[in-house]
Amino acid sequence: MSPLRRKVCITGPTRLRVAQDALVRAGCELVLGKNLDEFPSYRYEARELIELIGDSDVIFPAGRDFIGGTILDSCGNLQAVVKSSIGIESVDVDAATDLGIVCCNSPTPENYLGVAEATIGLMVALFKRLKFNEAYLRSGRWKEPQNRGTLMTGKTVGIIGTGRIGRNVAKRLAAWDMRLLGYDPYVSQETVAPLGIALVSLEELLKSSDVVTLHVVLTKETRNMIGLEQMKMMKRSAYLINTSRGPAINQSDLNAALNENIIAGAALDVFDEEPLPLTSKLRDVDATKLLITPHIIGSNPGSLEAGQKLAAQSILAILEGRVPDTVVNPTAVDLWKQRFWP
Ligand code: NAD
Repeated sequence: MSPLRRKVCITGPTRLRVAQDALVRAGCELVLGKNLDEFPSYRYEARELIELIGDSDVIFPAGRDFIGGTILDSCGNLQAVVKSSIGIESVDVDAATDLGIVCCNSPTPENYLGVAEATIGLMVALFKRLKFNEAYLRSGRWKEPQNRGTLMTGKTVGIIGTGRIGRNVAKRLAAWDMRLLGYDPYVSQETVAPLGIALVSLEELLKSSDVVTLHVVLTKETRNMIGLEQMKMMKRSAYLINTSRGPAINQSDLNAALNENIIAGAALDVFDEEPLPLTSKLRDVDATKLLITPHIIGSNPGSLEAGQKLAAQSILAILEGRVPDTVVNPTAVDLWKQRFWP
């Protein structure tokens, strides 16, 4: 490949132009898709994306855009797919690996610490029944003994997925005198012991925790990992928090579990379909039991900027034949080198 070729397809450019500006400064030619701020739920057909990407060297896709195997296979110049987020499940990473296409995410502290902080906020809101009592007061009433919250001290927190965010939740809870349980088959007890986390089976975590919080990456294994069966294992007084990815829990089962008081409440920042459809049954669940936010809880201006900056750095590394630290499919690297940097 000629070192001068630097064509990058940004499928969903935004008002924030940190990545765009950095790429233009570095001499890249940009191909821009439909603006994400104006068309947040636009669904590209695969053939439209293939046409848009054309002979680009790198794709920088928006969360809304699914980059499947057909697209990767059809765009022969494609060296890499780089996301400005942590989650990369909207890219068919296995297909990319087979083709020698490198995939990168952008795990910036601004992003994962933002989610960890927000998770603590959700926990406090649930245990202290903030939404319920706020609504109660606004309806013209005052305090009632049965509306009191729960003391968090001494309670058990179950952390499913003890990666960056799960560990930072634990780190922040270290001074709260709570028992921390974790479930993560890919992490050793030695790694998380300094954070006070005791790794247990999923079943034990669900049965013992007063709040269960999900911080898994979305994979075939974690999709639907918490359904009605798992919710029934939880205490009736327990809360469920999901700030990871919507499909990690079965949304309609959660609906049923909340309506039938199988668990006490939940907080969700992520959904099966985003933006959450106006027809979603979750919108009908008693609002004092369910706290929902539009996939924004961990975001802050710093997180978006940092994500775009890191993504631009990864893109430029790829275009110079260097392997960035952000590669999530290292087994693609040999074939990538053979194909593009012999
Ligand atoms: P990470 O890769 O550091 O950690 C994920 C953990 O999940 C890993 O430790 C992994 O071993 C574990 N895991 C994998 N399969 C598992 C299984 N079957 N059971 C239990 N654990 C399993 O990722 P992270 O940076 O901590 O991010 C966690 C999640 O949060 C991701 O899904 C990410 O997309 C999401 N996220 C959401 C937001 C938001 O705005 N709500 C922002 C950033 C990240």
